[in-house]
Amino acid sequence: MLSIERLSKRYGDMEVLKEIHLTVGQGTTTIVIGPSGSGKSTLLSCINLLELPTEGAIRIGDRRLDFSEGSKPGQRAILSFRQQTGTVFQGNYLFPHMTALENVALGLIAVKRWNKADARAKAAALLDKVGLGACRDRYPHQLSGGQQQRVGIARAMSMEPKILLFDEPTSALDPELVGEVLEVMKQLTREGITLVVVTHEMEFASRVADQVVFMEQGAILDSGSPADIFGRPRHDRIRHFLNRLS
Ligand code: ATP
Ligand code: MG
Repeated sequence: MLSIERLSKRYGDMEVLKEIHLTVGQGTTTIVIGPSGSGKSTLLSCINLLELPTEGAIRIGDRRLDFSEGSKPGQRAILSFRQQTGTVFQGNYLFPHMTALENVALGLIAVKRWNKADARAKAAALLDKVGLGACRDRYPHQLSGGQQQRVGIARAMSMEPKILLFDEPTSALDPELVGEVLEVMKQLTREGITLVVVTHEMEFASRVADQVVFMEQGAILDSGSPADIFGRPRHDRIRHFLNRLS
């Protein structure tokens, strides 16, 4: 489904991602962990092309974008490739002057040119799915942080992306609101949606991950099943990281 080949990202002289190789199977869940500054967010940003890789290639389904020297994709190729992904970020980024329903319907109307009635019907169904059917006419400030994140998930799903990317979707939430967001994500993993999730929620990770990827200093230090990475980590670095969290 997703494959990342020798992907590197530099900001000036600083190499933030170093020849990353990663394969994510259709319908699987990949959890990305690692210390602060190791490049997790940058990796997601290179997958959804909010940042452009300096080197390497990305394939989603049967489409491949090559960033190696001499083959920089054009703006149109980038925009249409980006539509294959949906992203849920950490903080609140809903439009404050729009209701939950309008936030979810917006992309369908503005990008996909759906008519308003169809877009609203689909948005309502997605809000039902994330357990917010009763909140569709509320504005973001009338929703809890966890509810706002669930609206964000519905909004990302509205465009029917091939892959959903999550960057620490629960880390800005009060502890008692984390569970409801993880529950919605768990439901997505059961529905066979392809997910790549950066999170520090290790129990969640060990339950849902098909693959765990540990990043350090812009590289993938190790990857494997939750049993491999959590149960019998091969690197001291990973053992220390996990011990510190538990
Ligand atoms: P955290 O766990 O704190 O979110 P992270 O693993 O997501 O960290 P990134 O945000 O990907 O790490 O950052 C990786 C490195 O790239 C850091 O050293 C960061 O300072 C640097 N970096 C990120 N974005 C930029 C940018 N726009 N310009 C320059 N350097 C950047
Ligand atoms: Mg980050």
